[in-house]
Amino acid sequence: MERECVFCKIIRGESPADFVYKGEEIVVFKDIRPEAPIHLLVVPRKHIPTVNDLTEEDRLLVGEMFLKARAIAQRLGIAERGYRLILNVERGGGQIIFHLHMHLLGGW
Ligand code: AMP
Ligand code: ZN
Repeated sequence: MERECVFCKIIRGESPADFVYKGEEIVVFKDIRPEAPIHLLVVPRKHIPTVNDLTEEDRLLVGEMFLKARAIAQRLGIAERGYRLILNVERGGGQIIFHLHMHLLGGW
């Protein structure tokens, strides 16, 4: 499962991606099919399929995802104008890639 996971492959460097941040816990790269002038994916290195699979031990990681999204929005100069953070959960919620990720959209 993790071996075949598209985002795990990107994180391991086995598939290409346009990274804007690489940290110990989280990476951020550009969405391959952008739906906004800026469309990034905030992705934990840990393979967690969906929000429904989060556990108590992921509490800090989830906080990190939000803080990293905000920091990058600030760095890109879109924080004050405004942006969207989206988490699609399970197929019914529009999730296609089953490795937790937060969409950061902005720059309109
Ligand atoms: P979701 O519907 O939340 O699962 O969104 C998955 C997102 O991942 C979509 O917006 C895709 O365009 C994006 N995506 C899929 N494959 C890649 C890839 N190899 N590199 C970057 N983004 C990707
Ligand atoms: Zn994965």
